[in-house]
Amino acid sequence: MPHVLVLVDHDGERVHKSTHELMAAARRLGDPAAVVVGTPGTAARLAESLARYGATTVHAAESTDAAEYLATPAVDALQLAVREVSPAAVLVSATADGNEVAGRLAARLDAGLLIDAVDLDSSGVATQIVFGGSYTVRSQVTRGVPVITVRPGAFEPEEHPGQAVRRTLALPAADPAASARVTARRSAPAGDRPGLTEASVVVSGGRGVGGADGFKVVEELADALGGAVGASRAAVDAGYYPHQFQVGQTGKSVSPQLYVALGISGAIQHLAGMQTSKTIVAVNKDPEAPILGLADYAVVGDLFAVAPQLTQEVTAR
Ligand code: FAD
Repeated sequence: MPHVLVLVDHDGERVHKSTHELMAAARRLGDPAAVVVGTPGTAARLAESLARYGATTVHAAESTDAAEYLATPAVDALQLAVREVSPAAVLVSATADGNEVAGRLAARLDAGLLIDAVDLDSSGVATQIVFGGSYTVRSQVTRGVPVITVRPGAFEPEEHPGQAVRRTLALPAADPAASARVTARRSAPAGDRPGLTEASVVVSGGRGVGGADGFKVVEELADALGGAVGASRAAVDAGYYPHQFQVGQTGKSVSPQLYVALGISGAIQHLAGMQTSKTIVAVNKDPEAPILGLADYAVVGDLFAVAPQLTQEVTAR
Protein backbone atom coordinates (compact mmCIF):
# COMPACT_ATOMS: atom_id res chain seq x y z
CA MET A 1 0.00 0.00 0.00
CA PRO A 2 1.35 3.48 -0.76
CA HIS A 3 1.86 5.90 2.11
CA VAL A 4 -0.41 8.88 2.57
CA LEU A 5 1.17 11.70 4.55
CA VAL A 6 -0.96 13.37 7.22
CA LEU A 7 0.18 16.62 8.84
CA VAL A 8 -0.60 16.30 12.55
CA ASP A 9 -2.54 19.06 14.32
CA HIS A 10 -1.58 19.10 17.99
CA ASP A 11 -1.00 21.30 21.01
CA GLY A 12 2.26 19.61 22.00
CA GLU A 13 0.55 17.14 24.32
CA ARG A 14 -2.52 15.95 22.48
CA VAL A 15 -3.41 15.06 18.91
CA HIS A 16 -6.41 17.05 17.72
CA LYS A 17 -9.52 15.21 16.53
CA SER A 18 -9.08 16.74 13.06
CA THR A 19 -5.95 14.59 12.65
CA HIS A 20 -7.79 11.39 13.57
CA GLU A 21 -10.31 12.35 10.89
CA LEU A 22 -7.47 12.86 8.37
CA MET A 23 -6.22 9.36 9.23
CA ALA A 24 -9.63 7.93 8.29
CA ALA A 25 -9.53 9.90 5.01
CA ALA A 26 -5.94 8.76 4.34
CA ARG A 27 -6.86 5.10 4.76
CA ARG A 28 -9.05 5.35 1.67
CA LEU A 29 -5.87 5.93 -0.37
CA GLY A 30 -3.21 3.92 1.45
CA ASP A 31 -1.34 3.64 4.75
CA PRO A 32 -1.50 6.82 6.86
CA ALA A 33 1.94 8.18 7.75
CA ALA A 34 1.87 10.98 10.31
CA VAL A 35 4.19 13.98 10.13
CA VAL A 36 4.67 15.67 13.51
CA VAL A 37 6.27 19.10 13.55
CA GLY A 38 7.13 20.38 17.01
CA THR A 39 9.72 20.81 19.70
CA PRO A 40 11.89 17.81 20.69
CA GLY A 41 9.88 15.03 22.36
CA THR A 42 6.56 15.95 20.76
CA ALA A 43 6.37 12.96 18.39
CA ALA A 44 7.12 10.54 21.25
CA ARG A 45 4.23 11.99 23.27
CA LEU A 46 1.81 11.77 20.35
CA ALA A 47 2.92 8.42 18.87
CA GLU A 48 0.50 6.22 20.81
CA SER A 49 -2.54 8.26 19.86
CA LEU A 50 -1.43 8.34 16.21
CA ALA A 51 -0.85 4.57 16.11
CA ARG A 52 -4.27 3.95 17.68
CA TYR A 53 -5.90 5.77 14.76
CA GLY A 54 -3.92 3.90 12.13
CA ALA A 55 -0.59 5.68 11.58
CA THR A 56 1.87 3.09 10.29
CA THR A 57 4.79 5.55 10.42
CA VAL A 58 5.37 8.64 12.56
CA HIS A 59 7.81 11.07 10.97
CA ALA A 60 9.23 13.37 13.65
CA ALA A 61 10.36 16.79 12.42
CA GLU A 62 11.53 18.42 15.62
CA SER A 63 13.55 21.49 16.48
CA THR A 64 13.66 23.86 19.43
CA ASP A 65 12.25 26.73 17.39
CA ALA A 66 9.71 24.76 15.29
CA ALA A 67 6.78 26.42 17.03
CA GLU A 68 8.20 29.91 16.53
CA TYR A 69 7.76 30.03 12.78
CA LEU A 70 4.54 30.09 10.82
CA ALA A 71 3.99 27.50 8.09
CA THR A 72 7.62 27.06 6.98
CA PRO A 73 8.66 24.21 9.33
CA ALA A 74 5.56 22.21 8.35
CA VAL A 75 6.17 22.84 4.65
CA ASP A 76 9.85 21.84 5.04
CA ALA A 77 8.89 18.68 6.94
CA LEU A 78 6.26 17.60 4.43
CA GLN A 79 8.61 18.27 1.52
CA LEU A 80 11.29 16.07 3.14
CA ALA A 81 8.73 13.33 3.85
CA VAL A 82 7.44 13.45 0.26
CA ARG A 83 10.99 12.95 -0.96
CA GLU A 84 11.47 10.03 1.43
CA VAL A 85 8.28 8.03 0.86
CA SER A 86 6.80 9.20 -2.49
CA PRO A 87 3.28 9.20 -1.02
CA ALA A 88 -0.01 8.75 -2.85
CA ALA A 89 -1.16 12.09 -1.39
CA VAL A 90 -0.54 14.61 1.37
CA LEU A 91 -3.51 15.45 3.60
CA VAL A 92 -3.74 18.57 5.77
CA SER A 93 -6.65 20.00 7.77
CA ALA A 94 -8.55 22.72 5.92
CA THR A 95 -7.95 25.42 8.53
CA ALA A 96 -6.44 28.83 7.77
CA ASP A 97 -2.99 27.52 8.78
CA GLY A 98 -3.48 24.18 7.03
CA ASN A 99 -4.53 25.78 3.77
CA GLU A 100 -1.46 28.01 3.87
CA VAL A 101 0.87 25.07 4.47
CA ALA A 102 -0.80 23.07 1.70
CA GLY A 103 -0.62 25.93 -0.80
CA ARG A 104 3.06 26.53 -0.15
CA LEU A 105 3.83 22.81 -0.31
CA ALA A 106 2.01 22.34 -3.62
CA ALA A 107 3.93 25.30 -5.08
CA ARG A 108 7.24 23.84 -3.94
CA LEU A 109 6.38 20.39 -5.30
CA ASP A 110 4.91 21.84 -8.49
CA ALA A 111 1.93 19.65 -7.71
CA GLY A 112 -1.85 19.99 -7.82
CA LEU A 113 -3.76 21.30 -4.80
CA LEU A 114 -7.35 20.68 -3.70
CA ILE A 115 -8.74 22.78 -0.86
CA ASP A 116 -11.49 21.99 1.64
CA ALA A 117 -12.47 18.50 0.50
CA VAL A 118 -15.56 17.11 2.21
CA ASP A 119 -15.12 13.62 0.78
CA LEU A 120 -12.40 11.57 -0.86
CA ASP A 121 -12.68 8.28 -2.72
CA SER A 122 -10.13 5.52 -3.14
CA SER A 123 -9.03 6.82 -6.55
CA GLY A 124 -8.17 10.23 -5.08
CA VAL A 125 -11.26 12.06 -6.33
CA ALA A 126 -12.19 14.76 -3.82
CA THR A 127 -15.60 16.33 -3.34
CA GLN A 128 -15.64 20.09 -2.72
CA ILE A 129 -18.45 22.54 -2.13
CA VAL A 130 -17.71 25.72 -4.06
CA PHE A 131 -19.05 29.21 -4.86
CA GLY A 132 -20.51 29.73 -1.42
CA GLY A 133 -22.21 26.35 -1.41
CA SER A 134 -23.91 26.74 -4.80
CA TYR A 135 -22.15 23.79 -6.45
CA THR A 136 -20.63 20.47 -5.48
CA VAL A 137 -17.68 19.45 -7.63
CA ARG A 138 -15.55 16.34 -7.80
CA SER A 139 -11.92 16.96 -8.68
CA GLN A 140 -8.73 15.00 -9.02
CA VAL A 141 -5.12 16.14 -9.10
CA THR A 142 -3.44 15.16 -12.34
CA ARG A 143 0.03 16.60 -11.71
CA GLY A 144 2.51 15.53 -9.05
CA VAL A 145 1.72 14.35 -5.52
CA PRO A 146 -1.84 15.51 -4.71
CA VAL A 147 -1.92 17.95 -1.81
CA ILE A 148 -5.42 17.97 -0.33
CA THR A 149 -6.89 19.88 2.59
CA VAL A 150 -9.86 18.20 4.26
CA ARG A 151 -12.64 20.02 6.07
CA PRO A 152 -12.62 19.28 9.82
CA GLY A 153 -15.63 17.14 10.69
CA ALA A 154 -16.03 15.72 7.18
CA PHE A 155 -14.71 12.28 8.18
CA GLU A 156 -15.44 10.16 11.23
CA PRO A 157 -12.35 9.24 13.25
CA GLU A 158 -11.93 5.44 13.30
CA GLU A 159 -9.71 3.57 15.70
CA HIS A 160 -7.36 1.26 13.81
CA PRO A 161 -4.78 0.17 16.37
CA GLY A 162 -1.37 -0.97 15.21
CA GLN A 163 2.32 -0.34 15.58
CA ALA A 164 3.87 2.80 14.14
CA VAL A 165 7.49 2.94 13.00
CA ARG A 166 9.25 6.11 14.15
CA ARG A 167 11.36 8.07 11.64
CA THR A 168 13.28 11.32 11.96
CA LEU A 169 13.18 14.14 9.45
CA ALA A 170 16.10 16.57 9.74
CA LEU A 171 14.45 19.99 9.53
CA PRO A 172 16.66 22.62 7.90
CA ALA A 173 17.50 25.62 10.11
CA ALA A 174 14.82 28.27 9.77
CA ASP A 175 15.80 31.22 7.61
CA PRO A 176 14.56 34.23 9.62
CA ALA A 177 14.75 36.43 6.52
CA ALA A 178 12.39 34.14 4.59
CA SER A 179 10.02 33.03 7.37
CA ALA A 180 7.33 34.74 9.38
CA ARG A 181 8.23 34.49 13.07
CA VAL A 182 5.72 34.52 15.93
CA THR A 183 6.61 37.37 18.28
CA ALA A 184 3.65 37.15 20.67
CA ARG A 185 0.67 34.88 21.15
CA ARG A 186 -2.79 35.99 22.09
CA SER A 187 -5.59 33.52 22.37
CA ALA A 188 -9.18 34.24 23.16
CA PRO A 189 -10.38 32.64 26.39
CA ALA A 190 -12.06 29.47 25.15
CA GLY A 191 -13.16 28.28 28.57
CA ASP A 192 -14.04 24.61 28.71
CA ARG A 193 -15.77 24.56 25.34
CA PRO A 194 -14.34 22.52 22.49
CA GLY A 195 -12.86 24.37 19.50
CA LEU A 196 -15.35 25.34 16.82
CA THR A 197 -13.88 23.14 14.09
CA GLU A 198 -13.23 20.25 16.49
CA ALA A 199 -16.61 20.12 18.19
CA SER A 200 -19.13 17.40 17.42
CA VAL A 201 -21.92 19.82 18.42
CA VAL A 202 -22.07 23.49 17.38
CA VAL A 203 -24.79 25.88 18.54
CA SER A 204 -24.77 29.12 16.55
CA GLY A 205 -26.60 32.37 17.05
CA GLY A 206 -27.55 34.93 14.44
CA ARG A 207 -28.95 38.44 14.26
CA GLY A 208 -32.17 37.05 15.72
CA VAL A 209 -30.39 36.68 19.07
CA GLY A 210 -30.71 40.44 19.27
CA GLY A 211 -27.55 41.40 21.16
CA ALA A 212 -24.47 40.27 23.06
CA ASP A 213 -26.59 39.48 26.13
CA GLY A 214 -28.85 37.26 24.03
CA PHE A 215 -25.90 34.98 23.30
CA LYS A 216 -26.18 33.69 26.88
CA VAL A 217 -29.08 31.54 25.65
CA VAL A 218 -26.86 30.18 22.85
CA GLU A 219 -23.98 29.49 25.24
CA GLU A 220 -26.22 27.72 27.74
CA LEU A 221 -27.53 25.31 25.11
CA ALA A 222 -23.98 24.75 23.76
CA ASP A 223 -22.74 23.97 27.29
CA ALA A 224 -25.62 21.60 27.99
CA LEU A 225 -24.75 19.70 24.80
CA GLY A 226 -20.98 19.87 25.40
CA GLY A 227 -20.63 21.85 22.19
CA ALA A 228 -18.97 24.92 20.74
CA VAL A 229 -20.60 28.30 20.09
CA GLY A 230 -20.73 29.76 16.59
CA ALA A 231 -22.20 32.93 15.12
CA SER A 232 -23.43 34.27 11.81
CA ARG A 233 -21.63 37.16 10.19
CA ALA A 234 -24.53 39.50 10.91
CA ALA A 235 -24.18 38.68 14.62
CA VAL A 236 -20.42 39.17 14.46
CA ASP A 237 -20.65 42.43 12.48
CA ALA A 238 -23.17 43.75 14.99
CA GLY A 239 -20.68 43.04 17.79
CA TYR A 240 -22.77 40.35 19.47
CA TYR A 241 -19.97 37.77 19.36
CA PRO A 242 -16.24 37.75 18.46
CA HIS A 243 -15.14 37.16 14.88
CA GLN A 244 -13.19 33.96 15.53
CA PHE A 245 -16.53 32.21 16.09
CA GLN A 246 -18.02 33.20 12.73
CA VAL A 247 -19.28 30.29 10.64
CA GLY A 248 -19.58 30.60 6.88
CA GLN A 249 -17.88 31.55 3.67
CA THR A 250 -15.72 34.22 5.29
CA GLY A 251 -15.58 32.46 8.66
CA LYS A 252 -14.92 28.89 9.68
CA SER A 253 -16.24 25.77 7.97
CA VAL A 254 -17.69 23.22 10.35
CA SER A 255 -19.16 19.78 9.84
CA PRO A 256 -20.29 18.59 13.28
CA GLN A 257 -22.64 15.73 14.12
CA LEU A 258 -25.20 18.32 15.25
CA TYR A 259 -25.53 21.98 14.22
CA VAL A 260 -28.15 24.10 15.95
CA ALA A 261 -28.95 27.46 14.30
CA LEU A 262 -30.76 29.95 16.51
CA GLY A 263 -32.14 33.09 14.86
CA ILE A 264 -30.18 32.57 11.64
CA SER A 265 -31.96 33.10 8.32
CA GLY A 266 -29.80 30.74 6.24
CA ALA A 267 -28.06 33.03 3.74
CA ILE A 268 -26.00 31.07 1.23
CA GLN A 269 -22.77 32.43 2.71
CA HIS A 270 -23.70 31.01 6.11
CA LEU A 271 -24.79 27.66 4.64
CA ALA A 272 -21.40 27.40 2.87
CA GLY A 273 -19.77 26.90 6.26
CA MET A 274 -22.19 24.44 7.87
CA GLN A 275 -24.35 22.63 5.33
CA THR A 276 -22.28 19.43 5.54
CA SER A 277 -23.23 19.08 9.23
CA LYS A 278 -24.70 15.63 9.83
CA THR A 279 -27.89 16.82 11.56
CA ILE A 280 -29.16 20.40 11.42
CA VAL A 281 -31.68 21.87 13.84
CA ALA A 282 -32.95 25.39 13.16
CA VAL A 283 -35.11 27.62 15.33
CA ASN A 284 -36.57 30.63 13.56
CA LYS A 285 -39.75 32.60 14.09
CA ASP A 286 -40.16 33.16 10.33
CA PRO A 287 -41.63 30.04 8.67
CA GLU A 288 -40.20 31.28 5.33
CA ALA A 289 -36.59 31.45 6.57
CA PRO A 290 -34.41 29.45 4.10
CA ILE A 291 -32.57 27.63 6.88
CA LEU A 292 -35.79 25.84 7.82
CA GLY A 293 -35.81 24.22 4.36
CA LEU A 294 -32.32 22.80 4.90
CA ALA A 295 -32.83 21.72 8.51
CA ASP A 296 -33.46 18.11 9.50
CA TYR A 297 -35.50 19.47 12.43
CA ALA A 298 -37.11 22.86 11.84
CA VAL A 299 -38.73 24.66 14.76
CA VAL A 300 -40.87 27.71 13.95
CA GLY A 301 -40.82 29.74 17.11
CA ASP A 302 -39.09 32.31 19.29
CA LEU A 303 -35.58 31.17 20.12
CA PHE A 304 -35.87 32.71 23.59
CA ALA A 305 -38.77 30.34 24.29
CA VAL A 306 -37.43 27.25 22.48
CA ALA A 307 -33.68 27.25 23.32
CA PRO A 308 -34.08 27.40 27.14
CA GLN A 309 -36.56 24.50 26.96
CA LEU A 310 -34.04 22.49 24.94
CA THR A 311 -31.32 23.35 27.46
CA GLN A 312 -33.55 22.30 30.34
CA GLU A 313 -34.50 19.04 28.63
CA VAL A 314 -30.87 18.15 27.80
CA THR A 315 -29.67 19.05 31.31
CA ALA A 316 -32.37 16.90 32.88
CA ARG A 317 -31.16 13.76 31.03
P1 FAD B 1 -30.55 37.71 9.26
O1 FAD B 1 -30.47 37.33 7.83
O2 FAD B 1 -30.96 39.08 9.62
O3 FAD B 1 -31.53 36.66 9.95
C1 FAD B 1 -31.95 36.74 11.27
C2 FAD B 1 -33.01 35.65 11.43
O4 FAD B 1 -33.39 35.60 12.79
C3 FAD B 1 -34.28 35.90 10.63
O5 FAD B 1 -34.53 34.76 9.82
C4 FAD B 1 -35.36 36.10 11.68
O6 FAD B 1 -36.60 35.53 11.29
C5 FAD B 1 -34.77 35.33 12.84
N1 FAD B 1 -35.24 35.80 14.14
C6 FAD B 1 -35.31 37.09 14.62
N2 FAD B 1 -35.69 37.09 15.91
C7 FAD B 1 -35.88 35.78 16.26
C8 FAD B 1 -36.30 35.14 17.45
N3 FAD B 1 -36.55 35.83 18.58
N4 FAD B 1 -36.41 33.78 17.45
C9 FAD B 1 -36.16 33.06 16.33
N5 FAD B 1 -35.75 33.63 15.17
C10 FAD B 1 -35.61 34.96 15.14
N6 FAD B 1 -22.76 35.29 6.71
C11 FAD B 1 -22.35 34.33 7.57
O7 FAD B 1 -23.09 33.92 8.48
N7 FAD B 1 -21.07 33.82 7.49
C12 FAD B 1 -20.20 34.22 6.54
O8 FAD B 1 -19.06 33.73 6.54
C13 FAD B 1 -20.62 35.20 5.61
N8 FAD B 1 -19.79 35.62 4.62
C14 FAD B 1 -20.25 36.52 3.70
C15 FAD B 1 -19.44 36.87 2.63
C16 FAD B 1 -19.90 37.76 1.68
C17 FAD B 1 -19.01 38.11 0.53
C18 FAD B 1 -21.19 38.32 1.82
C19 FAD B 1 -21.69 39.29 0.78
C20 FAD B 1 -21.98 38.00 2.88
C21 FAD B 1 -21.54 37.09 3.84
N9 FAD B 1 -22.32 36.72 4.91
C22 FAD B 1 -21.91 35.74 5.75
C23 FAD B 1 -23.57 37.46 5.24
C24 FAD B 1 -24.83 36.76 4.79
O9 FAD B 1 -25.13 37.13 3.47
C25 FAD B 1 -26.01 37.15 5.70
O10 FAD B 1 -26.13 38.55 5.72
C26 FAD B 1 -25.86 36.68 7.15
O11 FAD B 1 -25.52 35.30 7.17
C27 FAD B 1 -27.17 36.90 7.88
O12 FAD B 1 -27.01 36.54 9.23
P2 FAD B 1 -28.26 36.14 10.08
O13 FAD B 1 -28.93 34.96 9.48
O14 FAD B 1 -27.81 36.06 11.49
O15 FAD B 1 -29.17 37.46 10.01
